[in-house]
Amino acid sequence: MSYLSILNPATEEQVTSIELYDLEETDRAIKRAAKAEATWRAVTPVDRARLLRRFSDVVGDHNEELAQLEVANSGHTIGNARWEAGNVRDVLAFYSGAPERHSGKQIPVAGGVDLTFYEPLGVVGIIVPWNFPMPIAGWGFAPALAAGNTVVLKPATLTPLTAIRLAELGLEAGLPEGVFQVLPGDGAVVGWRFVTHEAVRKVCFTGSTDMGKRIMAGCADQVKRVTLELGGKSANIIFADSDLERAAASAPSAVFDNAGQDCCARSRILVEASAYDRFMELFEHAVKQFRVMDPGDESAEMGPLISAGQRASVNSYVEDTPVAFTGTAPQGKGYWFPPTVLESTDGTDRAFREEIFGPVVSVLRFEGEEEAVTIANNSPFGLSGSIWTRNVGRALRVARGVETGALSVNSNSSVRYHTPFGGYKQSGIGRELGPDALRGFSEEKNVFIATEE
Ligand code: NAD
Repeated sequence: MSYLSILNPATEEQVTSIELYDLEETDRAIKRAAKAEATWRAVTPVDRARLLRRFSDVVGDHNEELAQLEVANSGHTIGNARWEAGNVRDVLAFYSGAPERHSGKQIPVAGGVDLTFYEPLGVVGIIVPWNFPMPIAGWGFAPALAAGNTVVLKPATLTPLTAIRLAELGLEAGLPEGVFQVLPGDGAVVGWRFVTHEAVRKVCFTGSTDMGKRIMAGCADQVKRVTLELGGKSANIIFADSDLERAAASAPSAVFDNAGQDCCARSRILVEASAYDRFMELFEHAVKQFRVMDPGDESAEMGPLISAGQRASVNSYVEDTPVAFTGTAPQGKGYWFPPTVLESTDGTDRAFREEIFGPVVSVLRFEGEEEAVTIANNSPFGLSGSIWTRNVGRALRVARGVETGALSVNSNSSVRYHTPFGGYKQSGIGRELGPDALRGFSEEKNVFIATEE
């Protein structure tokens, strides 16, 4: 057993230290999950639904505690952290309605009756990144449990505290032992064991594209089911006929929320040439007003980056690039980085192409719809994006043309738990959330019953 210090990214002070799972403990936990599967699968849909509703209620009762824990562990603003804990509550509540509705089909066939059944996969391994520890955990474990699977979940090494607490709250709500376990530890030890252990039947991985590729290749060995939610470099496309004031006022939070550590961050802003200068004027005003401060402050809009390493990585993108303008950030202790705006001349520079995962945005001008779509699609990623225009036909044409999984028109919001979420191209494979999420956690079995003697 080894220990890891958990640091507060806003102060660099130790919050606590936690025990990391080693390989043997990981195997024991997977064994417990496999054993608990028989119990959990036998719980009637009505009772499974009731337990998940109770889990949702208990999470709701602990909203403030979970939120404060996230502020301390991850540097999220208190407003965001409350939303995130509320999202776990809501996702659990939404999928608590699923066990009683997870029905198969009766398909007309000759000579008998044909029925399909959705059956649980078994043990599901969920691997979570550090940027949204609570929501991303919930998007995996809530539908997985609702479909009758047991879950082992590995939080990111840097941000395990809320996930550990969520597992305790699950037990408090009455989930049987072994049904939902959280295993803090190194990715290469705990996470990789989910890939190699035969009892784990599916891996849900959210994280970097490079690691996602390795996970997928590893899972191929056992033809293990895999869902990948990976990186992004989403475009915020602003046409001259849009409400420029609104588009500019909301552009900072579309990329700097969570200090830009958001897979859906609109980190490329494409502006129609005729509106470029006016947009930049409005955008600069909005960026300078963006409140970067102690994340525990009720009015904070952005906190620090997660770690010194992340700050160095983000900084490498701006070291030798001319900066158009920046917002402000506190000085002194903490992994602070100011909101930073770059102007790209032709979209070929590294900052424009790569996922920075920090509060840095590149702005590029375009001429007309076709060029906007071409630039937006000129990326290996395809996760989300926004389109600002008052022309409804154009909004739909561009939305159909942009190769990403979650788009918004005259809005920057990408994620609702009742709508599907996931990426095109190298942003991932499979979909999470939405009405069909349980299918990704079920096998579909077909049974034919002959009725003729
Ligand atoms: P990461 O790939 O470094 O780590 C993700 C998780 O994988 C962590 O829990 C880590 O411990 C674990 N891991 C590391 N090595 C492993 C191994 N050998 N085997 C198994 N697991 C291993 O990613 P990160 O830096 O934590 O997160 C940032 C990335 O996540 C960004 O690229 C971001 O875009 C992406 N992300 C995507 C989404 C989405 O929904 N598409 C959401 C959030 C974050």
